[in-house]
Amino acid sequence: MAEQIVVQLRSEIDVGSFTYELRHGKAVTDDLASGTRFSEISGYLKRISLDDTLSEQQQDNDFIHEVVHAINQVYLDGELEERQVKCVSNGFHQVLKQLGVTFRLQPSEGG
Ligand SMILES: [Zn+2]
Repeated sequence: MAEQIVVQLRSEIDVGSFTYELRHGKAVTDDLASGTRFSEISGYLKRISLDDTLSEQQQDNDFIHEVVHAINQVYLDGELEERQVKCVSNGFHQVLKQLGVTFRLQPSEGG
């Protein structure tokens, strides 16, 4: 089994020359649940919202998925369609997991 590498995420992540805010916690989870989503990205507000109540595996998948969306926005003018973003991010998730790389959100007040 590969060495485990846990990447502790900060509250922001840079993609290209843009800084995206990484948001999570109860208010974010409630907001996402109202739209029956696990995660979302706003290219306009430059922020990524993640449900931190899901399994660590699901959170990893969602984080990678939204980062691929950000890369798509910044470097590809949004040319990739949802299905393509999903396929690329699922592929990255599988390869990173195989290498023992996982991501953890910062603890947030209120869950
Ligand atoms: Zn998506």
